[in-house]
Amino acid sequence: MSPNELQTLKFAHVVDGKLLEGKKLDCCKDPRTNEPLWNVPVAGEEELQIAVTAAQNAFPIWSKKPVTERQSALLQLVDALREQKEFLATIVSKETGKSEIFDEIVHEDDTVQIVQTHTPLGIVGAICPWNFPLVLAVAKVAAAIVTGNCIIVKPSPFTPYSILKFAEIATKIVPAGVFQALNGDNSLGASMTTHPGIQKISFTGSTKTGKKIMEAASGTLKRITLELGGNDATIVCADVDVSKVATEVANGCLFNAGQMCVATKRVYVHESIREEFLQRFVEAAKVFTEQPTIAPPIFGPMQNQMQHAIVQGLIEDCKATGCNILVGQNQSPNGLFIEPTVVDNPPDDSRIVREEQFGPIIPILSWKDEEEVITRANDTDVGLGACVWSKDSTRALSIGRQLEAGSVWINSSEKPNPAAYFSGHKQSGIGGERGRQGLLSYCNTQSIHIYK
Ligand code: NAD
Repeated sequence: MSPNELQTLKFAHVVDGKLLEGKKLDCCKDPRTNEPLWNVPVAGEEELQIAVTAAQNAFPIWSKKPVTERQSALLQLVDALREQKEFLATIVSKETGKSEIFDEIVHEDDTVQIVQTHTPLGIVGAICPWNFPLVLAVAKVAAAIVTGNCIIVKPSPFTPYSILKFAEIATKIVPAGVFQALNGDNSLGASMTTHPGIQKISFTGSTKTGKKIMEAASGTLKRITLELGGNDATIVCADVDVSKVATEVANGCLFNAGQMCVATKRVYVHESIREEFLQRFVEAAKVFTEQPTIAPPIFGPMQNQMQHAIVQGLIEDCKATGCNILVGQNQSPNGLFIEPTVVDNPPDDSRIVREEQFGPIIPILSWKDEEEVITRANDTDVGLGACVWSKDSTRALSIGRQLEAGSVWINSSEKPNPAAYFSGHKQSGIGGERGRQGLLSYCNTQSIHIYK
C-alpha cells in the first residue's frame, strides 16, 4: 500500500452489514511519531441501539445455522484476515478455535437419559484494550460467532482502526448484524454493560474497569468474562543455564515494551546465580532499544500518554526511594519511548514490586528458600500468569502448581496458546477465554431430562 493510499484511508462503524458514518469524530495519534492518524467516528446511545436492533434481527437466523456453516464462515474470515494480513498489520503497527461443542449424555439409567446441550447466549458486547487491539478482539469474535452468537465489538478509543477495518472486511462474509464494530469512548462501554439487549460482556482491560463492569452488568444479570490485569512473577532456580535463561526472561519482560497482560512483571532469581543473571539480563535489556523506524518492532513506545506517565511515575518512585537502578537512568527525550529499566533488588513492599507496571521497568529480586519464594510470588491480589525455570522439570512443575495464577509456563516465557484456557485467578478476572472451556463461556448450558 502506498503512503498516499494509507493516508487517505477512511474509517466507519460497521453496523448491519454497512458502514455507518458518525456524527462525532475523534482522531488518535501515532505513538511513535505523535502525528495524527485518521478520523474515526465515536458512537453514542443512538448508534448502539441501531447495532443492538440489527443483532437482534440477525440472532434468530444465525443461532439456528448448523455449527458447520458457522465454522465455514469463520474459516472464510481467517482466509480474509490472512489475505489482508499486511494491510491490517500496517494499521496495527500504526495504532500500536476451532472446536465443536457436542451434546453430552451426562447420566443414563433405566428411567432417564440426561443430555447436556449448549446454546448461544444471544448478543455479546466485546470491550477491548489498546495493547493488542486486533488479536484480543479477534479471539472474542471467533468464539462468539462459531458458538452462534452475534457480537458488537468496541475497540479502545486509543486504537480504534484495525478492528473497524477487520469488521468492514467481514461484511462480505458474515450476514449483516452478526459481527459489528462501534468505536467509542468509555461511556459507550458503560452503555453496553447496562443495555438490556446485550446478554454477555466479554471484557479485556484493567482490574479497575473490570470491577465497574461487574457492578453495571448486575442490573441485567449479564454473563461476564473479565480478563484483567496482573503482576506476573517469574521464578528462576539455581540450576539453569544462566546466559540463555536471562535472555529469554528479558524477552518475556520487554516484548512490546512490557505492554502485555502476561509479561513478566517481577523476576525472582536464586541468590547463588543472582550476580551473573543480573549481568546477562542487563546485556539482554540493552538490546531492546528504540526502533522507531523498524516495523514490526519487538520494542516500541508506550502506546499513550497515560501509560507513559504511569511507568515514568514508577521510575521516579524507585529513584526517590533510593533503589539501585542498573540500566535505564537516561530517559529518552523522544516522545513516548521509555528505555528498558532494571531495578536491582527493591524491597518487597516497594511500588515497583506491588503494582502492575505495564511497561519496560523490571525489578530483579533474590530468593533463597523455595517455600519463601512461592509465598512472595503469591503475595498479591492478582493472579494472571507466572513462569518457572529449572533443569529439574519435576521441581519446576511442583513450584508451578503452587502458584496462584491462571496460566503457568514451565521453562518458557509467556506464550498464550489458542488451545489453552486463558483466565485470571483472584482479581485478574472472572471466567476466561480460549479452549473448550472458553467457548462454553459463550453458551447457555441446558440439561434435558428425557424420561423413558
Ligand atoms: P481499560 O480498563 O482502561 O480500558 C479497556 C476498555 O474498557 C476500553 O475499551 C475502554 O474504553 C473501556 N472502558 C473504560 N471504562 C469503562 C466502563 N466504565 N464501562 C465499560 N467499558 C469501559 O484498560 P486498558 O488501559 O485499555 O488496558 C490495559 C489493561 O488491560 C492492563 O491492566 C492489562 O493488564 C489489561 N489486559 C488484560 C489482558 C488479559 O487477557 N487478562 C489482556 C490485555 C490487557
